[in-house]
Amino acid sequence: MNTRLVLPSAAALLFAAAALAAPAPPLPQFSGETTLASLNLAMPAMRGARQVPAKPVPVGTYTWTRSDGTTWQDERSPAVELWRAAQSAGTWADRAGNELTLARARFAFPALPYEHASREEFDEALADPALRLSPKAEPAELADWVSRFAGVGLRGEPTALPINRQRLSALWEIPLEDPAARAYAFRFDPGHAGQAAAQAAWFVAILRVPAAALPSDNGAADRQLRNGFLSSIRALGRFSAAATDPKAKPRARPDAEIPEDARRAAARATIELLDDWWHMDSPHYILLSDIQGATAQADRLLGVLEALRPRYAALVPRFPRAEEPTSVVRFFRDDDEFVRYFEGTPLALAVERTAGFYDGGRRELVIRPAKREWGGPEHMEATVRHEGFHQWLHAAWPGAEAPTWFNEGTAEVFESFVPRGAGGSFEWREQESAARWLEDLAKNRDADWTALLRATLLADQRAFYNPPHFGGDVRKSYAFAYGLMYFLHRGAPLVRNQPWKDVLPTLYRALYESPRDPAGATCAAFQLGPNGADTAFLEKFAADLRAFWRASSARQNARNAKLP
Ligand SMILES: [Zn+2]
Repeated sequence: MNTRLVLPSAAALLFAAAALAAPAPPLPQFSGETTLASLNLAMPAMRGARQVPAKPVPVGTYTWTRSDGTTWQDERSPAVELWRAAQSAGTWADRAGNELTLARARFAFPALPYEHASREEFDEALADPALRLSPKAEPAELADWVSRFAGVGLRGEPTALPINRQRLSALWEIPLEDPAARAYAFRFDPGHAGQAAAQAAWFVAILRVPAAALPSDNGAADRQLRNGFLSSIRALGRFSAAATDPKAKPRARPDAEIPEDARRAAARATIELLDDWWHMDSPHYILLSDIQGATAQADRLLGVLEALRPRYAALVPRFPRAEEPTSVVRFFRDDDEFVRYFEGTPLALAVERTAGFYDGGRRELVIRPAKREWGGPEHMEATVRHEGFHQWLHAAWPGAEAPTWFNEGTAEVFESFVPRGAGGSFEWREQESAARWLEDLAKNRDADWTALLRATLLADQRAFYNPPHFGGDVRKSYAFAYGLMYFLHRGAPLVRNQPWKDVLPTLYRALYESPRDPAGATCAAFQLGPNGADTAFLEKFAADLRAFWRASSARQNARNAKLP
């Protein structure tokens, strides 16, 4: 988990208070119309709802071993998520928690050797014509499709509904085990006036309401959804569809050459059907946002990230053969959307306290709207510099698990890079609050720096984010890791005879050779004994680290030294 933490958040408390005061959520109401030109379809709009961005399919790096012992890596995703993404047309949600998902049911689920598949393997499997869902598909086949798509079991047989019979040639209600979910599968009748251009496909609508909104009379909810929603779905005529222009979207940064790759294309696909979203491209990044009129801000953020990229690489070497896929940045307009984006993911619990994430599972840097109480745009840019490093490292060290002290300490170092002018140069400052705390700690006679260093180095993620050696204060973990990385890069080269010059190269080599053993690499780099036992090496290093943060002259020299 790569989080950038902020001080206890007033916003989070406000959220909690609002949730307590809320009345029982209402069932969704439908009015007006949502037009989906790409599907040639119009349907009643859920009142107060907005279309939410498709959640990107999670990606994991897998290492495989050949019979001769050599290895190779590929990127794989849960096949069921790839299958859903290939058919999902959009999701709309309102603040009460009602959610409507529309999908075009085109393929049955393919048989694959593993639950996780690479994109190529999946696309190849999906090309099998036998998987195509026929217009004559049996209700049981549709029910299977819906159950897998919704991730919910079935409760009984599909029922034909006699609603909207002029326009629809078939309409099935598929009963799901979840009492708060309704699913309908339908097809248009191209023989109906004005519907000759209707797609010959099955569509599926899934409605979820908060359980608390369900009236005790379930029939009332069903009537409301049927009458409000199903009765007015229609196909668009040939001309109305052609007249609906695909919205004009911004906008590459000027003068930038943009290489195309699968990551960039997949990112664009997640906003293809969203009216409010736009993207901006730079050579190594694609930024997605629904903040209207934020192009100048987006341009600036991309400028910072592009300028930092060579700095990341100058400080931390890439693994040989690491690819450089386009990095995705998603920048949300409002808080609700940001929080909703992480629902159901391992990061959901942490979003309250964060101003931004690098979400490794989806390979996305996700930024929350700037909040004034968190320091506004300046704080947001600091977050981007920090999280941008996590994102870069994930791609630069494919399949490796970086030690937490290293990953967070280096990200903190980059967070304190302050842009100088617009030319892409930075000032490498000391991070003020961390430096002050480190100085106090260095002057405090009771502090045991060897013990604190060892505990920080050996902390796994849980111990780093809730450090017993710092009284549970995560900010001290960050500050200490920062102090360590800053010293290694700027202070250590000035120590006589450079006794610490092999620490980082040893760490990199060990991680390259055993990418899943961050503790082993740390022990090799700091010459720790078995089970992390103290050694003369560690004690001497801790003493030099402490001396550096205590002495203003050493720090002054470090500030004046040439940058890498
Ligand atoms: Zn971080």
